[in-house]
Amino acid sequence: MINYNKTFEDALRAVRSEGRYRVFADLERICGKFPQAMYHDDKGIREVTVWCSNDYLGMGQLPEVTDAMKAAVDKVGAGAGGTRNIAGTTHFHVQLEAELADLHDKEAALLFTSGYVGNEATLSSLARLLPGCVILSDELNHASMIAGIREGRSAKLVWRHNDIEHLETLLKELPLDKPKVIAFESVYSMDGDIAPVAAICDLAEKYNAFTYLDEVHAVGLYGHKGGGIAQRDGVSDRIDVVEGTLGKAFGVMGGYIAGSAALIDAVRSYASGFIFTTALSPVLVGGALASVQYLKQAHGLRAAHQERAAKLKEMMRQQGIPVMPSVSHIVPVLVGDPVQCKRVSDLLLDVHDLYVQPINYPTVPKGTERLRLTPTPMHTDEHLQKLVSTLDEVWASLKLKRAA
Ligand SMILES: *Cc1c(COP(=O)(O)O)cnc(C)c1O
Repeated sequence: MINYNKTFEDALRAVRSEGRYRVFADLERICGKFPQAMYHDDKGIREVTVWCSNDYLGMGQLPEVTDAMKAAVDKVGAGAGGTRNIAGTTHFHVQLEAELADLHDKEAALLFTSGYVGNEATLSSLARLLPGCVILSDELNHASMIAGIREGRSAKLVWRHNDIEHLETLLKELPLDKPKVIAFESVYSMDGDIAPVAAICDLAEKYNAFTYLDEVHAVGLYGHKGGGIAQRDGVSDRIDVVEGTLGKAFGVMGGYIAGSAALIDAVRSYASGFIFTTALSPVLVGGALASVQYLKQAHGLRAAHQERAAKLKEMMRQQGIPVMPSVSHIVPVLVGDPVQCKRVSDLLLDVHDLYVQPINYPTVPKGTERLRLTPTPMHTDEHLQKLVSTLDEVWASLKLKRAA
């Protein structure tokens, strides 16, 4: 007899013994009181401050967004009722795709049920649409990009993270007439560093390559209308495909790509992960539409977001908390050990009502376990002070390493 459950239990024991068993925090966000949430555990329910949400601007609770969702559900009902091809394309989908194309100054855009699906479906289709192509992938690319590249079964070369010299070395060895896709991200979500987008575009031009940029952690947050880092850096027209999410800064759910009309039509026609699934709920699409439109104008909110992140980094530096060298809104703090990292997170939550999830392997390399803090415009000076003084206390009590 095969004991299937024992096999599963053994697999879980392995994860536990490495200190990377994941425990989900059971939360009820309090609409209108961002970043506060009710936390449920076996001791009961209490209010905590959330420090690790990807709802970077609190858009998920903005009345303009929630009202649009209520209006959509009242107008057209809960679900799309089909795949995009069979009865599931609502007018909301058509409007949002037009809005997203405009956000990135591209000819067209295409929605997916998530950013993960967008990356997987698009990269796997690109590999098939470009026979004989080579995909050059940054070594820190997201799991969804890696999955799409693998599924496409093209040749793949991995370049050292943000290392354009290494990228050029690899490009140089490929025939100029061979199709090449350079796949990378703008803001890397665990370190908060940013790709040299313009320099990568220079190489793409020189070596006749196609550029695929995941702007998931930048859309809504950077650029004059929230189009991301390529927009901020004035190189949108040199990026062939921008991939984004509606689930992070836009505060709702869903993913998308934007690019040329031909590329979008080809992915629409070939990508399994786009074709064979029910279209996003019009309620989500209506909310995302309101959010994208709102953020196109919300320069003050974007500036406030950057100010909060800069201030938090500065306050932590002054206390010797080892904040990692991020150049974005992401504030990672190095712990460097999975068990200690979990312990810090547990202490913050259990004793101080501060919620920040530990980030362990395989999300980040072993030895670089960290807390990943995401301050938002809704985190006040008091929130910042309480966090920093608490971290100081926890660092002392656990005798953790300080910054030099
Ligand atoms: C979160 C994430 C995705 C996936 O987006 P979802 O909409 O959450 O599925 C893609 N790429 C990167 C870099 C991400 O961090």
